Amino acid sequence: MVVVAELTVLLLGGTGEARRLAALLARERPRWRVVTSLAGRVAEPALPEGEVRIGGFGGPAGLADWLRRERVDAVLDVTHPFAATMSASAVSACAEVGVPLLVVRRAGWTAQPGDAWRRVPTLQAAAATVAGLGERVFLTTGRQSLAAFAGLDRQWFLVRSVEHPEPPLPRRLAVILDRGPFTVDGELALLRRYGIDVLVTKDSGGTMTAAKLHAARQLGIPVVMVDRPAALPSDQVTRIEDALPWLAAHSGSPGQGC
Ligand code: NAP
Repeated sequence: MVVVAELTVLLLGGTGEARRLAALLARERPRWRVVTSLAGRVAEPALPEGEVRIGGFGGPAGLADWLRRERVDAVLDVTHPFAATMSASAVSACAEVGVPLLVVRRAGWTAQPGDAWRRVPTLQAAAATVAGLGERVFLTTGRQSLAAFAGLDRQWFLVRSVEHPEPPLPRRLAVILDRGPFTVDGELALLRRYGIDVLVTKDSGGTMTAAKLHAARQLGIPVVMVDRPAALPSDQVTRIEDALPWLAAHSGSPGQGC
């Protein structure tokens, strides 16, 4: 007997929220087909519940083909706030095919009393700002962002990333391979052990990696905060639970695109 799914959902993933949303949908809507898509960047990704596909689609045209072929009813973009190319591709492909798109994106971080943040628009601006702020830099912007700091020879960098970074890299650096969640005590110990005097981060938001900000506040360490890419025009929520009513409201003609 062939079981036909009530609704086919593509979930663009690569985040903790995407894994939690895949688990929520598996539990709450077992008759839906939910396919999580991963870019395939890390060798051993944390896999979500349910169906998974791995690898790029081949730009907006490739994604549009995929949506048609798999008769997708709705797309949930639960990628990282800085995965701007994938998000733009989703906006374009969904508009072309006529499939509704919801961006599920955690809120960004907000400075609190005691914080010394410098907000900058790009990684290049972050590198220019760091040059005048400190000598020992904790760089947590991800391994694909290090080229922007490669020209800084006067600073020493502590880089933390999930996998080994590749050149171009800053000349003076140490690498720690680790993935969150991190604790405030752990971050305090790290900042002290390496004598860090400036922290660089992207405004990823969420709780998984926020401990470094609490630790920097406690130690009076300045933070260079790279702003998110501009939001694209689409429906957006910050909580994964809010995807359920949105999906219910957009499930008018399952299997055909809505
Ligand atoms: P990106 O620059 O926006 O995407 C580059 C290309 O990678 C896309 O055009 C797409 O290839 C492919 N891709 C990205 N996400 C994909 C997905 N979920 N499924 C299938 N293909 C995907 O993305 P990125 O910043 O490199 O991030 C890659 C992945 O890592 C994302 O899934 C993101 O959620 C996760 N991540 C990113 C960060 C970050 O700081 N950027 C942090 C944590 C996790 P095609 O054009 O061929 O379709």
